[in-house]
Amino acid sequence: NVRLQGITRRFTNTTAIENITFEVPDGEFWVMVGPSGCGKSTILRTIAGLETATGGNLYIGDTLMNGVPARARDVAMVFQNYALYPHMTVAENLAFGLRMRSFEKKMVRERVETVARSLDISHLLDRKPKQLSGGQQQRVALGRAIARQPQVFLLDEPLSNLDAQLRDDTRAELKQLHQKVGITTIYVTHDQVEAMTLADQIIVLNQGRIQQIGDPQNIYARPANRMVATFLGSPP
Ligand code: ATP
Ligand code: MG
Repeated sequence: NVRLQGITRRFTNTTAIENITFEVPDGEFWVMVGPSGCGKSTILRTIAGLETATGGNLYIGDTLMNGVPARARDVAMVFQNYALYPHMTVAENLAFGLRMRSFEKKMVRERVETVARSLDISHLLDRKPKQLSGGQQQRVALGRAIARQPQVFLLDEPLSNLDAQLRDDTRAELKQLHQKVGITTIYVTHDQVEAMTLADQIIVLNQGRIQQIGDPQNIYARPANRMVATFLGSPP
């Protein structure tokens, strides 16, 4: 599980996030939503170790992660502008995280094939990224992140560069993948439909603070305040 306890991140002139507390149980898929600048990326980056909190405690499993460098965390993060290694094939991109962790060759090959199958990119393994469509590249980026079977999977608006059809397809694949693999996931999106269809629990943020946490039905039917209601389009 992932547990944040009063996590705060202040910059010189702004407080990006304030007193963020929640716990994502093992294997659940949580979605974080809120307007631009509300602190979504800062929370993910703090969990990944790419940002240092100025207050609070972060646990992964039972381990306090404060001060643990990103590369020592069992966390994979996928960004909106997923960068694949252009000079490597799809297979090499998928294997990259595994090599770094000195897995055996045969094991790497097997893991790459399993991941490629689950994301429907097996037929693309020998291509370079520039020979792929945007949606295919994005699936490779997702595959590269999950290939090493991280304990925690963080996704920061991973589908926002895709057109509507690809978005729907990739979202469905992501959901299936999660059902198969069951990695603890936190997914950031602007898209209310995405939140409603993917989430076990939704976190709504505004101005660096949590407004409400709830399952999709509940939070839609019983928004805690006007901001949540407006954001999720709840009936008045
Ligand atoms: P978006 O939906 O636009 O991606 P977000 O919810 O991900 O927004 P964050 O990127 O987490 O928002 O930013 C939260 C707040 O912290 C913003 O007000 C932002 O300007 C501020 N912020 C983020 N990084 C820094 C930084 N390095 N220095 C100063 N302020 C920062
Ligand atoms: Mg962001």
